Formats: sequence, C-alpha cells, structure tokens
Amino acid sequence: VGLFKALKAVKEIKEVAAAGSADGQAAPGFGGVMMGFANVMAGLMAPIMLWMKPERGRPLPATEPAAAPVAAKAALSGGLSAIVARDSAFDPALLTAFADQVFASVVAVWSDNDPGPVRGVLADALWEPLAAAASANQSMAVGHGTNSITTLATMQQGRASLVSAHAGEWYDSVVVAFDVRLSDQAPAMMREPWTEEWLFQRSLVPGPDPMSLPDQCPTCGAPTAVDSTGACTRCREPIPLRTAGWLVSRIVCHNPMLEMEYDQLVAQLRQNPEQLARLPAPLRELLPRDLQAPGATPQ
Ligand SMILES: [Zn+2]
Repeated sequence: VGLFKALKAVKEIKEVAAAGSADGQAAPGFGGVMMGFANVMAGLMAPIMLWMKPERGRPLPATEPAAAPVAAKAALSGGLSAIVARDSAFDPALLTAFADQVFASVVAVWSDNDPGPVRGVLADALWEPLAAAASANQSMAVGHGTNSITTLATMQQGRASLVSAHAGEWYDSVVVAFDVRLSDQAPAMMREPWTEEWLFQRSLVPGPDPMSLPDQCPTCGAPTAVDSTGACTRCREPIPLRTAGWLVSRIVCHNPMLEMEYDQLVAQLRQNPEQLARLPAPLRELLPRDLQAPGATPQ
C-alpha cells in the first residue's frame, strides 16, 4: 500500500469507526479496534510526515531577506560572481555536485534510520526534527516492520541546479532547486515529479562545528549571550552563526500531495491529544503554533 492510499485508508477507517460508534450500529468493539488500528498507522507515519512538512527550517540568524527567496535568474550569475570575488576557490559546479550528495545522504537516512552522516550539513532547525523522526521511525519499526512511507522516502531521487545566489554580510547563500521523483520501483501513479528549493549557506568566518556562535556579538562587542530568538541580549541584534562549511538551513517542497497530507495530519493530531503528546519536541515544532504549546492561540 502506497503512502497516499494508506493515509486515505486510515481516514476512511476512522470515519467508519466514528460513524459506527455514533449511531450504535457497529458490532461491539469494532469501532475501538479499527480506531486503534488507524492510530497505529497514523503513529507510524506521523514522524516522517512531519519531517516532510512543505516548509522546514529557516535562514540562519542575520541572513538578509534577499538571500532566502527564489530570485530571478539574474540573481544567480551576479550572486555567484560576488561569491567568487571574495573566494576564488568557489566553484558552482562543485557546489551543485555537493548538493546532489547532500540530497542523496538525507534520503539515505530512511534506509537505516541513521541521521549521523548528515549532521554536518544540516542546520539545527532541520537536523533536530530529522534526528527525532529517524529515532521514532527506528523504535516503531521494531514492532511493526518498515512502513510504506519510509519505503517511499528511500526512493526519492533529486537532481540539483543552482537558482539564485547572494553574497551577504555574514553568509554566502545559494538556493538550490531539486527536480525530485521517486525511482522506478515506486508505483507509477506516484512517480509524478516535483521541485524543492534548499537554501545552502556558509558563514564568511568558518567555525569549528556545523553551527556555533562567535565569542562576541559582532554588533555591540558584548560577550555572546542570546535570547530564545538568537538575538543578542544586550543590543537585540541577531547574532550570525559560524558554520564549518555549507549547511542546508531551509527546505521548501512543492509537492501538492505532501502539502495535502501534511494538512490532514495536522487536523488529525488536533483531534488526538494522546498521539500529539507522544511526539518528540523537535517534531512538535513542525506543527502550527497552537499545537506546539497547549493553550497557545491558534494560527
Ligand atoms: Zn550585541
């Protein structure tokens, strides 16, 4: 059973179960059993579905707005030239090949639920939910075997092309578009291609770790202390991070089916507080704000 069919089946089972319990026509216990089955199915899929949220991550702190969106083609050659002007070793073809490797490595996480190999190339806002999803996937696979969405996730193939580049004050930023499709092993109806934009960024001053803070705020010079938004506690300006190399900080996925399934999952979690409560914190951060913290205002 493919992902989308499976999720539809879950929805229909829940509707049948709900209708059965409402009018009393279902055999005793039937509704409860089917609801239990539906919740197991949904529980298996929730972590990876959340990781596939259409928009994940965010540009690194102090990124200029011009660096993040997909810009016109003109922004590519100008941006690349500006990056080459301050780093003569920069080679767009090498970055494209690197992006292809990063994409394949992220896909490979779902083969063995080991996110370790991509720690160095993902910003924390992407790495933390990925690691949580892989861990949840691993522990659920013990009792239930591999689920269909994990199998489909391993079949993603992406081809990178650079679409825009920006030489910013703190970072080099390049938006890489991937043409994504599932391999020939996937059912034909699921091989419709889609595009994703991944924002690759690296700091001008390299740091020792994938992401680290400088010792001092570059704006006011105070010893680094940040609030929950990453802003300097003294001058309130965002403190730019240091990266060891290129990192993916944001992913935007243009797959109408995944967008629809994400919305359905959110609706389901909204009605299922127990399932919501079982989600690891980094995955809850991929939910609308009112589901992240009980009592918050709905978006
Ligand atoms: Zn400051």
